[in-house]
Formats: sequence, C-alpha cells, structure tokens
Amino acid sequence: MTKLLESLELCDECGICLDTCPTYKVTRNEEFSPIGRIKAATKLFQGAEVTPQMVESIYNCPECHFCTTICPYQIDVPEVVAQCRIELVNKGLAPLERQKAIIEGIQRLGNSVNGDPSRRLDWLPEEFPGKESSTLFYAGCLASYLVKDAATSAYLLLKKLEVDFMILPDEGCCGIYYHEVGKIDLAREKFEENAARFKKLGIKRVILICAGCYHCFKRLYPQVLGSIDFEVTHIIQLLPSLLKERGIKLEEKGMEVTYHDPCRLGRVEGFYDQPREALRLCGVKVNEIAENRQNALCCGAGAAVRSVYRDLSLKLASQILDEAPVSQIVTPCPFCQFNFSYTAHKTGSDKKIAYITETILKALPPDL
Ligand code: SF4
Ligand code: SF4
Repeated sequence: MTKLLESLELCDECGICLDTCPTYKVTRNEEFSPIGRIKAATKLFQGAEVTPQMVESIYNCPECHFCTTICPYQIDVPEVVAQCRIELVNKGLAPLERQKAIIEGIQRLGNSVNGDPSRRLDWLPEEFPGKESSTLFYAGCLASYLVKDAATSAYLLLKKLEVDFMILPDEGCCGIYYHEVGKIDLAREKFEENAARFKKLGIKRVILICAGCYHCFKRLYPQVLGSIDFEVTHIIQLLPSLLKERGIKLEEKGMEVTYHDPCRLGRVEGFYDQPREALRLCGVKVNEIAENRQNALCCGAGAAVRSVYRDLSLKLASQILDEAPVSQIVTPCPFCQFNFSYTAHKTGSDKKIAYITETILKALPPDL
C-alpha cells in the first residue's frame, strides 16, 4: 500500500496516457483520466474533502489497464482505483446506491444478476450429471443467467473434446463484484467460502469462461487470501491444444468473425494468440479491429462500471461495434458479449455477437 501511494507522486502529468484512457476519450474530462484519478487518490488519502466528482472519477474507471502499459513509471492506476474504492467504503461514502442493490442481490440470491437460484442450471443442455472430478467447469453468473449460450456451448465443446470435469448445481458467485466496489470484507468472506468448498470437494483445477471470474480467481483470490490450492484456467488457454490433439483438419468454412480482446484476458494476461489460433484451427477467418491486442478498446462494462454508468458503457461498446470490420463479433467474455448485445440493440447496430465457443462448435465437423 505504501509503495502504491508513493507511486502516485511519480506522475508528472506528462499526458502520454490520456489518449489510451477510454473514459477520457469519450468524456474529454481530465477528472475521468489516469491523471484525474491519481489526483483524486492523492486527495482521498491525504484526508481532503471528498467531492462527488472524485467519487465518479474513482468509480467510472473500467480498470482496462491501458494506462499502466504506457506510463513511463508504470503507475498501476487500476490498483490505485481499487484501493480508493476500499477507502471510500471505509469512509462510508460507498458503495453507491445501484451497487448496494447488486450486493444485496448477491447476498440474497447467490448471484450478481438477480437470477432465481433454482434456475441457475437452465443453460445445461442435459440432465444434471452429478459426477465427480478434480476439474470444475465454472460458468459464472452472467453466462448462467444472461448469456446462456456461452455456458451451453462451452460445456458442449469441452465434452466434445473429451475433457473430464464436473459442475456445481449451486455454483454461486465468484465474489468479484464485492471486490470491484471496494467491499473487501465481503469479498474476503466469499473468496474464503469458495476456496474452502473447492478444497472439500477435491477440486484441483477450475475452468472459467468469463474474463471477470478468471481475473477474480487467478489474481484477486491469491491477493486477498495469500494463496490458493487450485489451478485457474480460462477455456481459451485449453482450446488450441485440445483441438490439435483431436486432429482437426483445417478446412475453410467461409465463416468470418471480428475478434474482440477483453482487457482482463488481453492486456492483463497476454492471451492474444490462443483464441485466434483456436478459431483458425476450425477454419474460421479472424478479422481484426484496427486497435487490437495490447491496444484493444475496452468494452466499458467491467470493474462495476456498467452497473452505475450505463451510458458510458454503451458509448464505449458502441465504438467497438462501429469499428468491427466483419459483422459477426466473437469474444471470450460473456460480460463483453452481454454489453455488446445490449448496445447493438439500443443503437440499432446490425452487428451480431457470439461467445467464442458458439462459433467454434458451429465450425467443427459434425462427426467430431
Ligand atoms: S503516463 Fe503516467 S506519468 Fe504520465 S500522466 Fe499518465 S499516469 Fe502520469
Ligand atoms: S485503467 Fe483504463 S479507464 Fe482506468 S484510468 Fe487507466 S486507461 Fe483509464
């Protein structure tokens, strides 16, 4: 923490980061830029009076990690933002109203999207297989309730590729929303609960399909708990080798997609080649948005931004829809998919959005 606070003093307002920051680019308001957030954090931790603009500056950052990759001092603005959110909660100035409703929903229903817990497995295309395995397929709240095709297609694809795994009928929430809004006490409680449950069930590996769940289990659980006893894998890490093992013969299908890099899988983890390779192995032509890979545009939904600043998320997603060279967009994150689909609907865009495993399943030979 002290190191992080010291890093705030390094910012010389050189401005290199301004044009990387999605919230600055759409608002042109310096308060909603890395510089503005560093100033807000400095004031907050110096005990200055907290203004509504400071709160907005801290909560409208989707933690896209673009600024950290370009800052000459590598100031970790997303981490600064995360610590500021915890401090705002400590001061009783957060969570914000909409966030309180979602927190209450997670506590009451066990998911972040107000879903009926008895319908958690509606996405499952067969009777619940109550089998045991040391690998858990974890669909996450978004894919279980709002983007069910993502969960269904990922499940079917893993089965087709003969991966041994189990699922949990009462999977519950990974807890990332608690962490994102700064409710670190609730996040720790949820992380401990899930980690203890996995241990009791003998789970050694968790396969995720959501960039948020992946980030939570991979980065936040160890940060908060010190360590974890299970391996964390996103499905796109597995696909190229699984497809090769099955001897898929590349056959052009005339299918073309635009691939979108989610920030937490791209800039944070460097998973750029695996999803593209998996699509190409199935004969799908991958088209690129001009700003891709480490320069990818943020969809604007993550880090609890969409729940409070929906118009901002819509504007950010809209830019990506406009710039996609091919109308079928593919992403390996159900939250990006959800935000893009909502935005396409609201703006009348003709772009179609699919989860990556939906496209791969369609492209695979039927006899596989
Ligand atoms: S690039 Fe780094 S030093 Fe320059 S203004 Fe941005 S945060 Fe400050
Ligand atoms: S993480 Fe992204 S949105 Fe947040 S300040 Fe940095 S560039 Fe801007």
